Amino acid sequence: MTQRHVDVLILGAGLSGIGAACHLTRQNPGTSYTVLERRSRIGGTWDLFRYPGVRSDSDMYTFGYRFRPWRGTKTLADGPSIRRYVRETAEEYGVTGHIRFGRRAVRASWSSEAGVWTVEAVDEATGETEIRTADFLVNATGYYDYDRGHRPEFPGEERFGGTVVHPQHWPEDLDHRGKRVVVIGSGATAVTLVPAMAGEAAHVTMLQRSPGYVMTLPEHDPVSVLLRKAGVPEGPVHRFGRTRNIALQRGLYAACRAAPGVMRKVLLAGVRAQVGRKVDMRHFTPSYKPWDQRLCVVPGGDLFKVLREGRASVATGAVETFTETGVRLTSGEEIPADVVVTATGLRVQIAGGAELEVDGRKVTTRDHVVYRGVLLDGIPNLAIILGYTNASWTLKADLAADWFSRLLAYMRSTGHTRVTAVATAQDRAAESAMGDSLTSGYIRRGDAVMPRQGTRAPWKIFNNYYRDRRALERSPIEDPALRFDGASAPRTTP
Ligand SMILES: Cc1cc2nc3c(=O)[nH]c(=O)nc-3n(C[C@H](O)[C@H](O)[C@H](O)COP(=O)(O)OP(=O)(O)OC[C@H]3O[C@@H](n4cnc5c(N)ncnc54)[C@H](O)[C@@H]3O)c2cc1C
Repeated sequence: MTQRHVDVLILGAGLSGIGAACHLTRQNPGTSYTVLERRSRIGGTWDLFRYPGVRSDSDMYTFGYRFRPWRGTKTLADGPSIRRYVRETAEEYGVTGHIRFGRRAVRASWSSEAGVWTVEAVDEATGETEIRTADFLVNATGYYDYDRGHRPEFPGEERFGGTVVHPQHWPEDLDHRGKRVVVIGSGATAVTLVPAMAGEAAHVTMLQRSPGYVMTLPEHDPVSVLLRKAGVPEGPVHRFGRTRNIALQRGLYAACRAAPGVMRKVLLAGVRAQVGRKVDMRHFTPSYKPWDQRLCVVPGGDLFKVLREGRASVATGAVETFTETGVRLTSGEEIPADVVVTATGLRVQIAGGAELEVDGRKVTTRDHVVYRGVLLDGIPNLAIILGYTNASWTLKADLAADWFSRLLAYMRSTGHTRVTAVATAQDRAAESAMGDSLTSGYIRRGDAVMPRQGTRAPWKIFNNYYRDRRALERSPIEDPALRFDGASAPRTTP
């Protein structure tokens, strides 16, 4: 067992954990920190998911960190490029040497007496337990279970003669060339997999229980391409693209909430123009309002292209049973398959499965309300980095990490060593920190573990970048809802 103490212990070396470490090095020089990462590489989501075509469905100007511009004009990026970008960011900011790879945090306990977090981490290679302590803990473990995806059991699976795979655990040696593939799902993963596999498969069927909204984005950002051709330097091109895309994302989301009927017509007209006559529009006509669930985007209409060409098709219905040779729907339709991909989603998880304790008492995250989306009420010196679900994750993860670094700088200047967000009964609401506006399956399933949010600022989650920027970047750290204690005697800010 080794024991080390640092000022800040960060759990997770994905986009959020690396971002948090970079903010620390930029804003709090001299602060000691370690990143504990259970995998052997940087990148989180972008290391774990290796299915064909894996890519972002957010534009890269807003999905990249604001402090390290994403270079290039491609609107969406593939998984390996995103991983490389995160790894290079870690190298550029000197973070890589602070990461302890292959360490899975299993318990984090706060002691009020000692004023420290003690984290037990299991060495994934040897099974040995390592103990680390820190003044502050930053949870950047993402929002889902790395060990298991959401995987409903289908009747008759045992008699199916082909291969069943889940996108979260893609077998390296899976050969889909010349095979009949059925992708069960209609989310971002399914709409990515279908065109990516259609190139070599005999045929790909996207089998969905119900349709979702799909929007086409240009493969390359046309304005950035033009500006570059005109000799405009990279910096201004990036700044313009990012500012515009933040506004477009927000505008699209706000328009969908304010005028769902109009936006539904606009989105469906976009699909109609792409699918041509061969594809029945009922497969792309959802029963819910736009942005009740995350909107799927496809670059250059790649999904629609393979549907038009007949290399892929869509079936809408419920699985009655797997058969020896494929899948039968409750409508009686049979879809032959050699490979079935269950793109059925994620299992929401907080703290990467690690148990949280305060003074020996187990913390149930659902019982706590988030302060500015970063702290959990009643739990000292703990920050949690969660991004947006209705815009690029990184926009919020960046704001949260930046605010936390400002909080540390403030505490250093005042001599305080502990901060606790204190919520009153009126501050609490039943709504999950991920929000109730999205009805996506993983958000509904995750309700059991997600912390709560409040009815008003600073406890309310607005999911609005402009509002959050004002609240997190510009507002003073001092706040009646924060209790500061430590070296210079307990003190509540006025
Ligand atoms: C396939 C896919 C595509 C996505 N595309 C987009 C997109 O286009 N746009 C968007 O905004 N969002 C997208 N998301 C959401 C995405 O997860 C986030 O955008 C972002 O990558 C999350 O970064 P993170 O660092 O917070 O979490 P993660 O990427 O999940 O990283 C968490 C890290 O913590 C580590 N960890 C977990 N538990 C422990 C533990 N107990 N101990 C130590 N380490 C631990 C993990 O190994 C991992 O490295 C996508 C998600 C998926 C699954």
